[in-house]
Amino acid sequence: MRAMILPALCRLNENLSPLKLTTLSDPVPGPGEILVRVSVCGVCHTELDEIEGRTPPPRLPVVLGHQVVGRVAALGPGAGVFRVGERAGVGWIYAACGACEFCRSGQENLCADFRATGRDANGGYAELMVVPERFAYRIPDGFTDAQAAPLLCAGAIGYRSLRLSGLQNGQRLGLTGFGASAHLVLKMVRHRYPLSHVFVFSRTEAERAFALELGATWAGDTADTAPEPLHCIIDTTPAWRPIVEALRNLAPGGRLVINAIRKEDADRAALLDLDYPAHLWQEKEIKSVANVARADISEFLALAAEIPIVPEVQEYALEDANRALVELKARRIRGAKVIRIS
Ligand SMILES: [Zn+2]
Ligand SMILES: [Zn+2]
Repeated sequence: MRAMILPALCRLNENLSPLKLTTLSDPVPGPGEILVRVSVCGVCHTELDEIEGRTPPPRLPVVLGHQVVGRVAALGPGAGVFRVGERAGVGWIYAACGACEFCRSGQENLCADFRATGRDANGGYAELMVVPERFAYRIPDGFTDAQAAPLLCAGAIGYRSLRLSGLQNGQRLGLTGFGASAHLVLKMVRHRYPLSHVFVFSRTEAERAFALELGATWAGDTADTAPEPLHCIIDTTPAWRPIVEALRNLAPGGRLVINAIRKEDADRAALLDLDYPAHLWQEKEIKSVANVARADISEFLALAAEIPIVPEVQEYALEDANRALVELKARRIRGAKVIRIS
């Protein structure tokens, strides 16, 4: 099969082609696994964290990609949830132990043995992949493959972030960073919390304009002050400065939810500007989001179909995956990016 592999970790600003197009032998589904012929795979900021070593794959080379939509091509021994030919999706959660206190309470995203698609196992930047069938999802009709892919991570983690924010209808929500996940959160909020106003902070004019187009009440630069204090803010940036600015923009008792698997080191010194009375006092809270549980993905897919939430997508060919990653790093973003494989 054709695959884009990551042979070695590197800095994307020193190497614009971290992935190499190659041919690998076709994977064979083991017990309880399915073989998926990949149609499209979404591009996620987490790929940058893997390539640059902030959440490094334990073995190299690896096939990245964890927002996978395809058709079931074969069943491993004992697998029978899907039929051959059926459409299936795969998200960031590839496996978990199934026995620990977190797994038993539906919080398998916190399992110590959490394994991630496209990091701890080969993912979707390839023509084929295998996955345990318990960690694959039916894709609702009505979405094209390309529209469905960003729902599997950007959408599902946005759904989890919004849930953890505790937002109530009518409360003001801030979004700092406006990429694939945040644009889906905005669409979700407009339907689920119709009385809530959304305030978007972004460094780029294009993202601010896109947010206003999708119905944000206000859009400003990361360092701006929203016209009113905000009850909840969801951060999807790779940086620290937006955290400090977001805390300043929170209303008393407000909650900042950090939806980022890792932060970059470049502006870590911004944290020294934390001023206790301005940023933390008044019972402000900070909560991070770690991975996703299966329920986040299946519940969000159902919600997205019901509303419906249709992502804005930009397509790239498999051999152009490096360009998609470089453009993501440069925040040349409008909605979500997906790789077209077959
Ligand atoms: Zn992701
Ligand atoms: Zn577990």
